Amino acid sequence: MALKQAKLINCDTIVDAFGCVGGNSIAFARYCKKVYLIEIDENRLKMAKNNSEIYQVQDKIEFIHGDFFKEAPKISAEAIFLDPPWGGPDYAALQSFKLENFSPNGQDILKLAFKHFSKVILRIPVNFDLTELEKFGRKYEVKNNLLEGKLISKTVYFM
Ligand code: ADP
Repeated sequence: MALKQAKLINCDTIVDAFGCVGGNSIAFARYCKKVYLIEIDENRLKMAKNNSEIYQVQDKIEFIHGDFFKEAPKISAEAIFLDPPWGGPDYAALQSFKLENFSPNGQDILKLAFKHFSKVILRIPVNFDLTELEKFGRKYEVKNNLLEGKLISKTVYFM
């Protein structure tokens, strides 16, 4: 799934804003020249470094320990990939998942992303209310993420 996303985004430089243990960044490193991985949790950042070494892409990734809102505006890159926390397993019980259900709030995340980056990519849960995306006045495409034939999430490409 990560590799498919990376191939579609097709850019030179990308920020992986909620980098976690590096799964998406490792895929981006295969297709992009440079990846900036931001992660607020120090242990996860260490795991991301270790994982990228296993896949031998560590030289293409810059590891940034900190908060997305503080660190992302300092970076000059073509694209930003956003996979913000969905607020725990309770997200699935919501009839329709809104931008404000991301934690931090998805509206604030997208506002900052649109201000600084030309391509913005957001991973959303399957119950996400797509009308939420209209308010930004930007063109977008939504693709399904299938794992063994099962729909597990969607990705929105504002490009
Ligand atoms: P999980 O995959 O365990 O559910 P989350 O979806 O909660 O993790 O969050 C994805 C990643 O984003 C986590 O590794 C978390 O530490 C990180 N993260 C959360 N808030 C921020 C933030 N403000 N800036 C950067 N990284 C963050």
